[in-house]
Amino acid sequence: MIYNAVLEINLKNVIHNYHSIKKNLGKSTKIIPVIKANGYGAESFHILETLAELGVETFAVAYFQEALTLREKGFKKTIIVLYPQEQNLKEIIEYGFEPVIYNKYLWQKFQNIALSNEPLSIHIEVNTGMNRMGFSPKETLSLLEEIKDKEARFKIKTLFSHLSTSEDITDREKALKQITLFEQVKKKSENLFPDTKYHILNTSGVFNFPEYTFDWVRCGIGLHGYANHPKWDALLKPVASLKTKIIQITSINEGDSVGYGNTFIAKKTMNIATLAIGYADGIPRDYGMKGGEVYLGNQSAPIIGNICMDATMLDVTNISCVIGDEVCFFDETHPATLMGKKLGTIPYEIILRATERVKRVFIK
Ligand SMILES: *Cc1c(COP(=O)(O)O)cnc(C)c1O
Repeated sequence: MIYNAVLEINLKNVIHNYHSIKKNLGKSTKIIPVIKANGYGAESFHILETLAELGVETFAVAYFQEALTLREKGFKKTIIVLYPQEQNLKEIIEYGFEPVIYNKYLWQKFQNIALSNEPLSIHIEVNTGMNRMGFSPKETLSLLEEIKDKEARFKIKTLFSHLSTSEDITDREKALKQITLFEQVKKKSENLFPDTKYHILNTSGVFNFPEYTFDWVRCGIGLHGYANHPKWDALLKPVASLKTKIIQITSINEGDSVGYGNTFIAKKTMNIATLAIGYADGIPRDYGMKGGEVYLGNQSAPIIGNICMDATMLDVTNISCVIGDEVCFFDETHPATLMGKKLGTIPYEIILRATERVKRVFIK
């Protein structure tokens, strides 16, 4: 390994995950991959290309600049921008991206600049209870009437909403309430716009609410091998592995400290291994204090002391290892869910933490 640390991206697992999710869908339901945040940290372009080769035609990103980066790299498929801002609506139209219109403010701004001769494809987000973005159901109904009168200018390609508890399998009530509200709006919309498509589920939704897949589902984390429940995780394969290597092994005596700030004092003679990765690579500085560990093959070693900017120290007293040995923080057999649990967060926030210094390497 010539880099200090790599995030290995297994594109074969992306394909496996795509097919695995697809099995849970009706024949006519499409998966819209959500490739935001640089493909959940995995560098979006190769993931997109892999999915495009499977026949996927439409993708979604969060922000305009993410769509722009993809176009500039030559990616030609349809890209939906989930969270446009007024400042980039004009460019969104010019580049042919499809914006989500999520409130009245944005709708006003959009109408002022949408002066094309062809009807512009848009997506409408309804807020059914997540209270993040979207028109209220009532606002949506009047918006639909308004757009009916402007059909020469706007085409509602899809109408959608987002669940706030799709991963919760014990309490389904909130999600079902949102789905009911969505279905009411959908019914009204169907009368006005026979060609519009509908979607409300993300990855967990596909597994936990398979009866509501409608026309599209929006999948991000699932394509990366996680579905927020062990039962569903078992059907998927983690795509990203964070790897580094041992660059020094040191023997220390009882009473010696390790790293900055005397936070770790040896109680006995120990062997310490130093890893070529630190908080500059995205490992939280206090991970060791929170029970952080790394994996050397099938053995695990605890992190000790504060993590440094460029290095991490391990207790390898009971582990046979040498300089150059590879070590991982998470991989296919040690999912990022474990690291997330220790840090009080979800795999989403773990897999996309690796900073730019961590080289992305792809397995095809
Ligand atoms: C990020 C995002 C998704 C993808 O969610 P996953 O849980 O990663 O599948 C779907 N829909 C919207 C609106 C999003 O912002």
